[in-house]
Amino acid sequence: MVAIGTELLLGQIVDSNSARIGQTLAANGFSSYLQLKVGDNHDRIVAALRLALEDADAVITSGGLGPTQDDITREAIAEVSGRRLHEDPGVRSVIEELFAARGRPMSANNYRQAMVPEGATVIEQRKGTAPGLIVPVGDKVIFALPGVPYELDDMLANEVLTELRLRRNDATVIRSRVLRTWGLGESRLAELMAPRFDELEGSNVTIAFLASGIEGVKVRFTVGTASESEALELLGREEERARQLLGDYVFGVDEDTLESVVARLAIAEHVSIAVAESLTGGMVASQLVRVPGASEWFRGGVVSYATAVKEQLLGVTASSVVSEDAARMMAEGVARLIGSDIGIATTGVAGPEMLEDQPVGTVWIGMSYRGRSEARKVQLLGDRERIRTYATATALDLIRL
Ligand code: ATP
Ligand code: MG
Repeated sequence: MVAIGTELLLGQIVDSNSARIGQTLAANGFSSYLQLKVGDNHDRIVAALRLALEDADAVITSGGLGPTQDDITREAIAEVSGRRLHEDPGVRSVIEELFAARGRPMSANNYRQAMVPEGATVIEQRKGTAPGLIVPVGDKVIFALPGVPYELDDMLANEVLTELRLRRNDATVIRSRVLRTWGLGESRLAELMAPRFDELEGSNVTIAFLASGIEGVKVRFTVGTASESEALELLGREEERARQLLGDYVFGVDEDTLESVVARLAIAEHVSIAVAESLTGGMVASQLVRVPGASEWFRGGVVSYATAVKEQLLGVTASSVVSEDAARMMAEGVARLIGSDIGIATTGVAGPEMLEDQPVGTVWIGMSYRGRSEARKVQLLGDRERIRTYATATALDLIRL
C-alpha cells in the first residue's frame, strides 16, 4: 500500500485510505505486508513503488490521479512498469461527457487524466473524474486508485478485489462476518463462546474478538471454503450458534450500529422516540439523528441538565436526581411532553466529583413505553468523556432491548 500526497506527510489529512484498504484486504483473506506514505515527488514515489514491489505481489496506491500538476502517480507508475503513457480515447470521452453534463468548461489539465500506461486496464470512474488503473509489472501488479475515500472504496470493493482473487492461486473462498455486541467485555464473551471454540478446533472456521471501545466488542467469524455458497452457509450457521450462546448481547452484524438497529426496530414497530438527557447532554439524540430518515421515528429531546429543568419541564419529583425514580420520571416526562411512544432518559455522575455521595460513573438509564417505565443502573469506569459516551451507548442499547 502506497499512499501518495504531501498533505499526508504534513499531517493535514489523516491517511484513512490505508486503514480502509488494510481492513478490506484482511476481511477478504489477503495479507498486507507494508504501508508507505510518500509526498508528491516523482523520484520518491518511484522509489516507494519499487520498495513495495520487492516483497509484495500487488501494490495499491491512493491519490495523485487528479488533473493538477502535483498529481503525478500516473507518470511514476509508467516509469516503474516500463510502460509509456498514451491517451486513452475511452477515458477522454468519458471525461468530456462528464464536463459537458455539468456544463463546465474543460481545461487542458483535465486531459491529463486520460493518460494511461500502455497495456494498463482502466477502472471506470463511476463516482468522480479520476479513473483508476490496473498496471501489470512483470507478474506483479499496481492498482492506482483515486485519493478521495468514497471513490477509492468503490473501486477497491469491485475491480481490485476481483483482480486480486483472480491472481490468488488457490481457489479458496474466504469470507467473514462480524457479530456486533454491547454490554460485555472481550474476556467474558470469549468465556460464553468457549463451547464453540472447542467444537471448531481444527476446522476451517476461525473466531476472533475485537474490542472496539464505544462500538462494543466485535466477534469475527472467518471461513475458508471451496465456494461462495458454502462459505455463506457456514457463516449463517456460526451466526446462529453464536446468537444462542451470546443472546441479547448481540445487537447486529457487520455494518450495523446501535443507532441503526434502534432505527430499524422503531420503523418495524411503528413507535416514536424522545429523549431526556442529563449527563449525556444531547449525545443520545445526536447519535439517533445520525441515521438517515430519523425524522420518521425520532421526535426530539430535552437536555435536562439542571435539577430545576428536570422538575419543572419533566415533572421529576424524586429526592435524588441520580436514582431509579428520577430516570423513570424523566423518561415518562419527556414522552408525555413531546408525545412519543418511547421516552429514554439518562442521569448519572459523569465526574470528576461525586454527586450526592454517589461515586463517579453511577448512571441510571430510564425507559418508558406507553406509560410503563423501568430503569437500569450501570457503573461505568473512566473519565468524564468516557462515562458520557458509554452512557450514551448503554441508553441506545436499552431502547433496542
Ligand atoms: P482527485 O481527482 O479528486 O484530485 P486524486 O487521485 O488526485 O483525486 P488526491 O488529490 O491525492 O487524489 O486527493 C484528493 C482528496 O482525497 C484529498 O484532498 C483528501 O481529502 C483525500 N485523500 C487523499 N489521500 C487520502 C488518504 N490517504 N486518506 C484519506 N483521504 C485521502
Ligand atoms: Mg488531486
